[in-house]
Amino acid sequence: MAPALIRSHEDLVQYHVSDGSPVEANPPRGYVERYIHSEIYKRYPTINSVVHSHSKAIIPYGITGTSTPVFDIAKHYQADDIPDLLIRNTRLGEALASQFAHSDANEDGTQGESARPAVLMRGHGVTITGTRIEEAVFRAIYMQDNAEIETTSLLLRAAHPSGPNEGSIIQYLSPEEAAGAAGMTQWAWERAWALWIKEVEAVSIYSRE
Ligand SMILES: [Zn+2]
Repeated sequence: MAPALIRSHEDLVQYHVSDGSPVEANPPRGYVERYIHSEIYKRYPTINSVVHSHSKAIIPYGITGTSTPVFDIAKHYQADDIPDLLIRNTRLGEALASQFAHSDANEDGTQGESARPAVLMRGHGVTITGTRIEEAVFRAIYMQDNAEIETTSLLLRAAHPSGPNEGSIIQYLSPEEAAGAAGMTQWAWERAWALWIKEVEAVSIYSRE
């Protein structure tokens, strides 16, 4: 069922991380794309929350390409796959999960692996990770806001190419500013989370049994 229609714990269905199969016998029909979640949890032990979205503000960046990695499912289809862009099995889920891999130096100098915050999915949407549910939700909401800001900036620049800063393209954050802002926003979800809970409680479509 749609997330907003969940009324109690009875509506939640558990799946095994190992293969996305249901824990209980005879479960209700589930989301086919649950393998996105199971394969990311399987590969990255520090990730405890995964958001998959079809945000229309973000999808264009997966079509045109940007510096954020883009997963192109067409490179992974096999003959018996339905080419409908959906992550329908563990093999496609594993291929998507591998695109999150980011190598890091461990304290002992060896190379380790962590998960990127987000990977775009061509013509489909985006998948976002977090070490906790609040972090993943925060990233999902602000990634959408940032996509809207970037699109508006690109449109303004295209509409006024000879305005101030003539000849320049969009002025993005420098790598130093991006790193500084990441530190500043690391715990920013704490303030937003309490507000979002109040907002959900205030909307009548969400209710508890
Ligand atoms: Zn999807």
